[in-house]
Amino acid sequence: MNFFMQKAIEEAESGIHQRHGGPFGCVVVKNGEIIGKGHNEVLKQNDPTCHGEMLAIRDACRNIGSYDLSGCELYTTAEPCPMCLGAIMWANIGRVFYGCNISDTDAIGFRDEKFYNTDKTAMLTETDRRECLELFDEYHNIADKTKKRKNQAYTLRKIQSICLFAFYLY
Ligand SMILES: [Zn+2]
Repeated sequence: MNFFMQKAIEEAESGIHQRHGGPFGCVVVKNGEIIGKGHNEVLKQNDPTCHGEMLAIRDACRNIGSYDLSGCELYTTAEPCPMCLGAIMWANIGRVFYGCNISDTDAIGFRDEKFYNTDKTAMLTETDRRECLELFDEYHNIADKTKKRKNQAYTLRKIQSICLFAFYLY
């Protein structure tokens, strides 16, 4: 069997034994090396977003110091749900290998299949678009979107501490 899928299964097994959540484990691989791993921790964390893929992606991003996982592959014990598939795409992960498929997941009581087939328009309503578009304008006009703005409160505290130090020396 595939080495990385074996690792994803071991992740899932560790989660099952610790009662962390469903039988879902995941590893993120870059250049033949595991750079992130995780298993379902929905029950442990009381957090519906703590799917194996989400935690493995977070772990990988932390480890490489980037939100961009281009060139990575993801191995997961089950076909990704809509949330995880979205996260995989946001992370630019190009290839996904999964073990069980959506129908298998449905058979043990999970709702992935339903979520994929739900008519989303019934629960989505557009409101106050104009006001929200102002945010878009503000963001769109920032030249360097990755550059952090200086924290003014922090700068003020820094100046105060320098003045106090100067006063002390005087
Ligand atoms: Zn998921």
